Amino acid sequence: MQSLQDPVTALKGVGDKKAEQLATLGITTVEDLLTHYPSRYDDFAPTNLEVAVDKQKVTLHGTVISAPVVSRYGYRKSRLSFRLQTGHQVVQVIFFNQPYFKDHLQVNGDVTVVGTWQRARQQVWGTKLLTVKPGEETIGAVYAANKHVKQATLHQLIEVAFHQYQHVIATLLPVALRQRYQLLDRPTMIKWLHFPTTGEQAKQARRTAAYEEVFLFQLRLQSMRLARRTADGLQIWYDNEELRAFIKTIPFELTAAQKRVVNEICRDLRSPFQMNRLLQGDVGSGKTIVAAIAIYATILTGHQAALMAPTEILAAQHAAKLAEVFTDTPVNVALLTGSLTAKQHTELLKQIAAGQCNLIIGTHALIQDQVHFANLGLAIIDEQHRFGVEQRKLLREKGLQPNVLAMTATPIPRTLSITAYGEMDVSVIDELPAGRKAIKTTWLKSDQGEAALSFLTAQLQQGAQAYVVSPLIEESEKIDVQNATALYEHLAAHFQPEYQVGLLHGRMSNDEKATVMADFAAGKVQVLVATTVIEVGVDNPNATVMVIYDADRFGLAQLHQLRGRVGRGGRQSYCLLVADPKTSEGKQRMETMVATTDGFVVAQRDLELRGAGDLLGKKQSGMPEFKVADPVADLKMMQYARQDALNLLEQPQWDQQDENQPLVHYLTQQNLQTHFD
Ligand code: ADP
Ligand code: MG
Repeated sequence: MQSLQDPVTALKGVGDKKAEQLATLGITTVEDLLTHYPSRYDDFAPTNLEVAVDKQKVTLHGTVISAPVVSRYGYRKSRLSFRLQTGHQVVQVIFFNQPYFKDHLQVNGDVTVVGTWQRARQQVWGTKLLTVKPGEETIGAVYAANKHVKQATLHQLIEVAFHQYQHVIATLLPVALRQRYQLLDRPTMIKWLHFPTTGEQAKQARRTAAYEEVFLFQLRLQSMRLARRTADGLQIWYDNEELRAFIKTIPFELTAAQKRVVNEICRDLRSPFQMNRLLQGDVGSGKTIVAAIAIYATILTGHQAALMAPTEILAAQHAAKLAEVFTDTPVNVALLTGSLTAKQHTELLKQIAAGQCNLIIGTHALIQDQVHFANLGLAIIDEQHRFGVEQRKLLREKGLQPNVLAMTATPIPRTLSITAYGEMDVSVIDELPAGRKAIKTTWLKSDQGEAALSFLTAQLQQGAQAYVVSPLIEESEKIDVQNATALYEHLAAHFQPEYQVGLLHGRMSNDEKATVMADFAAGKVQVLVATTVIEVGVDNPNATVMVIYDADRFGLAQLHQLRGRVGRGGRQSYCLLVADPKTSEGKQRMETMVATTDGFVVAQRDLELRGAGDLLGKKQSGMPEFKVADPVADLKMMQYARQDALNLLEQPQWDQQDENQPLVHYLTQQNLQTHFD
């Protein structure tokens, strides 16, 4: 039986060689070929020759009125010519070195010629010949091709595929949805995408294809979410009183937003289903303590919890802070990073496997093969956007069905989360702890460096602590380190002995890093010169000044994260951006930073300045790639599709109805068992 999943070799005229060539475009099945949608269309609307200028590209519909003649000259050169009646005019058409077009021409036949107008000669030198009827507004598909597969080959093969398979193209979208949005059935959609006779047809087909794409995408995500809700997960049936008693020991009152998300998370933990939740909250909104509460609940039931952070500095900081939060509790903290000695490492792995430590904090080291947990109940990923899809998946597979909590500031605008995190449940902390003052941000030109230093001095005199971030040199950690070191020496000469200056960069040993971080936390170091190693997570509530040199070298998200290192206590904090941006985009980034401290606004601006592709950073973000739809431009469509998919999946027995069988089949094919992430 024919199926769109047939390999392309099932098509007439496609052998192994051609199949190999098609594979270079990612085309292996008939379906791939039929959904190799045009990247654009050429417009073949006829040109009015009376106003055409010399050498203009023209499209002419007309009738062949003289027998086509091929004359050969020189070495393998040829000239095919005939006369074409178009409207009231007769022109000479010439194709150089394309003698085979002769077979497509006959006297009194209708053709469309695309070429350049040679006004003085009253000739058209043709480049394309199309056999279409005159008078129709005509457009032609243009495909993404490469050196192995030419445009013309694609045109031809897609035509073959369509004719051979058109009767097995099943319509996936339910009729109710097609009616509601006035969409096409699938055979028509595919036909009009590839062979439209009008621009309007192409447009309608594109609309249908885009909706179909986002609908299927959401259907997949939502069915995974629902499947998780019915599958067996790990139930964390903790004692409410004990958890409440722990929350009372926290030295501050949780914000309303924190209380709300704690409830959402705890409800998931207690449920018999696997939790897969994203905790979104701006820098400084207090995600760590929320994580701590979830960890405590988990450990109360005798399970282990793991917390993965993207840098050693952050992992070490979490270990130190959480050890403090958990003093006099049954929680014992282990820190697993890449810089343990072999002996320490082996010993720790043994303890983890034996369940002797119940909170394991670490970097990527946590997801290595040798790490076996005794009974992992909760896996938390801090700054989850810093991890690749694969790494997140590996941690999640460490336990049987561990509950997963991913935490992130706002690397992408809220509008895009339904696409990037569509299969997760999302909790949002939309409020900062009480008493926080908005960080005052100033943008200085580099010749105002003196002003920056005197401001810093004045702040230090009032007992402040400061970060000074050295310029970022793309791709070269070595130069970053040199820069930071030079800046450190400069500032040390300037400030010492009154104020202590410290240095932190990625090439220092762990002990060195830990020492300087501890000195900074204890107030022994007032000025910490650092590379972007401090970008995420670092928390010293006493630091109130952030100076960023060559700030225009950083992206908006990074600047926002860096700035988020201050303003974490009750005191007024400041951010100084020192920069001479050379591009208008760089200038706009500085202006955005000065204008707002709201991470969601910054992210939205970032999206506008950079575009989605760049912002979401390829596959890393877990953002899927779409063929037709654009997650930003088609956002409305994505929102509707999500709701439509949910509505369908929640209909009792939706998968029993005849009409939905193509969708059921589609979902089965997508292999729901594998994690999508
Ligand atoms: P982030 O969300 O950026 O990870 P953290 O969890 O590091 O933020 O919290 C930032 C700072 O705010 C920490 O010093 C933390 O102790 C403090 N904090 C968190 N919640 C509250 C609260 N409800 N009231 C006062 N301070 C809080
Ligand atoms: Mg954090």
